[in-house]
Amino acid sequence: MTEEKEKIACHVCKKMIPKAAAVHSEGQEYVLHFCNTECLDYWKKEKKEKK
Ligand SMILES: [Zn+2]
Repeated sequence: MTEEKEKIACHVCKKMIPKAAAVHSEGQEYVLHFCNTECLDYWKKEKKEKK
C-alpha cells in the first residue's frame, strides 16, 4: 500500500486525516502533522507561550 492511504491524527485537534493531506511542521527535529494551517498556527502560538 502507498502512504496516501495512511491516516494520522492531527497534533492539535486529534482529527484523523490522510497523511498525504496533512500539514507538516518544519524546521523541527521531529515532524508533527496538522489537519490544516489553523491547527499549525495554534500549535506555534502554544509553543511560544509555553517557552
Ligand atoms: Zn487539527
